[in-house]
Amino acid sequence: MSKYWSKLTQSLEPYIPGEQPKDKTYIKLNTNENPYPPSPKVLEAIKQAANEQLRLYPSPTCDDLRECIAQYHGLTKEQIFVGNGSDELLALAFWAFFDPGRPVLFPDITYSFYPVYANLCHIDYKLVPLAEDFSIPIDHFSCENGGIIFPNPNAPTGKYIEIAGIESILQKNAEQVVIVDEAYIDFGGESAVQMVHRYPNLLVVQTLSKSRSLAGLRVGFAMGNQNLIEGLDRVKNSINSYTLDRIALAGAVEAFKDEEYFRDTTLKVINTRKETVNSLEKIGFTVIPSQANFIFVSHPFVSAVDLYQQLKGKGVLVRYFNKPRIDNFLRVSIGSDSDMQCFLEALTEIIYKWKV
Ligand SMILES: *Cc1c(COP(=O)(O)O)cnc(C)c1O
Repeated sequence: MSKYWSKLTQSLEPYIPGEQPKDKTYIKLNTNENPYPPSPKVLEAIKQAANEQLRLYPSPTCDDLRECIAQYHGLTKEQIFVGNGSDELLALAFWAFFDPGRPVLFPDITYSFYPVYANLCHIDYKLVPLAEDFSIPIDHFSCENGGIIFPNPNAPTGKYIEIAGIESILQKNAEQVVIVDEAYIDFGGESAVQMVHRYPNLLVVQTLSKSRSLAGLRVGFAMGNQNLIEGLDRVKNSINSYTLDRIALAGAVEAFKDEEYFRDTTLKVINTRKETVNSLEKIGFTVIPSQANFIFVSHPFVSAVDLYQQLKGKGVLVRYFNKPRIDNFLRVSIGSDSDMQCFLEALTEIIYKWKV
């Protein structure tokens, strides 16, 4: 606290990102980064973009990238908004579409940035409890509200809802914006983007951070009706007109062009997930069915917090949330096959020691 802080700043409870410790080299399975490097073509495009043009501002409208994403998803560039990571874009969306006094709905167990954005913008929210099995209760998203946001697949559970469920939420909430945060959609789910044409209240948000191995480049994008995109633009241009730099724009365009690399690496992650789930179930773990690049797991005898600490001692970082309902679960990102081998070996040792 400082007396120099505004009242708003004093009232904030910021999001706490997953740890990025520097004390030694860990196997990092705690922030859902992709274990594979970005496409070599992306790296080449980024190198090419590091030239004397950097003295010039980048395009404030990011037309080339928006055109490229539009083509990829069968939309027009007027239906695309790009941002400095989807986190930035989600913050802009809270400003653009939600009002104080009418609560925004999101699940009780979900991406913990949502309440942070709501507090920053003075927007009320109401938590919708997930079912016992962590599935999203579609029918509970029809009460009086000022907007809706949820990830699909959900985080940190990895649980996916089918398009029909999302469509029913869109229909019951035609007067408000429904944001579907698809940070993990490329790991086995079907995108809601196909419904953008039919539902003017749908905003689909995706990122290059997970499935395109570009968390360090900071590029996210939103897809929706032109009116929604214009709303986001108004807010963006009231804060920072140049959210994406020349380097990020060059790399992001190339990431959409190298489709083959994208397919290969996401498929590898999906296969590794399958194998990891099998191995974990064999040593007694409960694994929530996941369509994401992470899994949410618990063990019947050894507590999640013990597992987290002992894994860290063995050089493997996973994510532990000290929160109601999920404090006996670990969220484990899917790494390379050898990362997961090390994780499983460390875990087996811990559980074996516990038994004797
Ligand atoms: C990782 C993640 C994001 C943020 O991604 P960036 O584009 O890196 O800001 C957004 N939503 C969810 C649910 C995520 O897990």
